[in-house]
Amino acid sequence: MSNKVAIIGAGPAGLSAAYLLGKAGISTTIFEQDKQYVGGISRTENYKGYYFDIGGHRFFSKSKEVEDFWTEILQDDLLERPRSSRIYYNHTFFEYPLVALEALKKLGLWQSFLCVASYLKAKLFPVKNPQNVEDWVSNQFGKKLYSIFFKTYTEKVWGISCKDISADWAAQRIKGLSLSSAIKNALIKPSYANKEKVIKTLIDSFRYPKKGPGMMWETCRDKCLQLGVKVKMNAEVIGLNFNDNLWQVVMKNEQFDEKFTYVLSSASIKNIVPNILPSVNKVAKEAALQLRYRDFLTVVLICKDKDSFTDNWIYIHDPSVKVGRIQNFKSWSPYMVPDESMACYGLEYFCFEGDGMWQKNNDDLIDLATNEMHQIGLLNKENVVEGYVVRQPKAYPVYDKNYKEKVQLVRDGLKPYKGLYLIGRNGMHKYNNQDHSMMTAMFAAKNIIAGKELYDVWKVNQDAEYQEEGERGVNEGGRLIPIVQN
Ligand SMILES: Cc1cc2nc3c(=O)[nH]c(=O)nc-3n(C[C@H](O)[C@H](O)[C@H](O)COP(=O)(O)OP(=O)(O)OC[C@H]3O[C@@H](n4cnc5c(N)ncnc54)[C@H](O)[C@@H]3O)c2cc1C
Repeated sequence: MSNKVAIIGAGPAGLSAAYLLGKAGISTTIFEQDKQYVGGISRTENYKGYYFDIGGHRFFSKSKEVEDFWTEILQDDLLERPRSSRIYYNHTFFEYPLVALEALKKLGLWQSFLCVASYLKAKLFPVKNPQNVEDWVSNQFGKKLYSIFFKTYTEKVWGISCKDISADWAAQRIKGLSLSSAIKNALIKPSYANKEKVIKTLIDSFRYPKKGPGMMWETCRDKCLQLGVKVKMNAEVIGLNFNDNLWQVVMKNEQFDEKFTYVLSSASIKNIVPNILPSVNKVAKEAALQLRYRDFLTVVLICKDKDSFTDNWIYIHDPSVKVGRIQNFKSWSPYMVPDESMACYGLEYFCFEGDGMWQKNNDDLIDLATNEMHQIGLLNKENVVEGYVVRQPKAYPVYDKNYKEKVQLVRDGLKPYKGLYLIGRNGMHKYNNQDHSMMTAMFAAKNIIAGKELYDVWKVNQDAEYQEEGERGVNEGGRLIPIVQN
């Protein structure tokens, strides 16, 4: 039988693989559970002509291959947009990424003194072999700065104490930065001349599709269809059967008898791996079931525009409100809003599926978001015309203390299953951006096209680089980047 590929999920990973496979003339079918949207977490929803992301999605990558892919798909519809963002803490806005001197000035003399003193203490008496985020970041910046700029937001995002989050995650996000380098760079204006172009790009601007990230993935889907790829929507995969080296996809709503030589799965490990038949070993199954996720909802407020702020997004560290981040979609692209006199803001709340926040009815969520915008001083309540709510399960794979071991047990358990590739964010339980997701999928596709294992998809690091070492953090010109982000 010639190669036939099934792909679970029409997110960035699934569609990137499908595009390469389609170009190579390999028979490919995508199974997507959503009825309407492709793009997964990188989709763009549309309500009455207002477009919005599930969180704002910047397009940037250190990988030329990924950048070229995006250019090939969208060409002139991929805009270069100016970047501006801030942090809100203690009724004060701070530039983001943090500029050390500005931050110390706004904190006042006494708080600044405490920051510097606790930094010196951390340098003299660091926690040996830090295992969690609290110890890792405190060693790097001192406990005081950690508690102001890292702890509150990080705990809002993850819903667990920083002591229970693996130090890996912090290391991945802010490696190579320290308070001393940040202060040095604040005093001596950093020269970007010798740095990689991409780093400058990250600081000043980013690429963004005219009508949001969904436009990228809808266009990619259309190009895949032209190449003969089949895209099945409303096609939730609830299991996989593996017999005689061939795969059969078990769908929730439909029987699908076609057999495949390869399956690329970007569905969560927790949902797919325990539902493979014959079953993976008990240890791998248990490990898959123990993986955890953080969920997310965004409340979209459509407002009469008061131009009260022009940031693309603002991180809300302040514990007096529940909102974690505020997006201003018109600043991402003016094409996201159909009427110039209006604005569209997205308030992001991090939660667990089924908890109090997740269960709240939409009207209460819209009231909460309106009141919090008012409290922060970004919006007059009277200007809100309408609201809309989007819930996103499994937005974040959780890096708790044992996640690495669990993922390894799953990988070991899958070794006998020829032709199955786990790809993408939840597919590999990797806290990643689109570029990493795409790269893992593209490498799986290249292996299939070549008919041999050219690449180990697990060796793609967070920066979409293929290497065996751990991930490199992005040092944005020596400015402090709190571990917030996506
Ligand atoms: C708030 C937020 C902000 C972000 N900001 C950025 C950013 O600025 N830049 C950036 O590059 N990245 C950003 N990301 C990350 C980005 O969203 C992901 O890296 C990317 O979407 C992952 O792509 P994926 O295809 O691996 O997975 P997903 O996007 O999760 O897509 C998986 C697809 O599979 C489908 N699926 C799942 N299970 C099944 C099943 N059983 N059967 C059928 N279909 C199934 C889903 O419906 C979905 O369409 C952000 C993420 C979040 C949460």
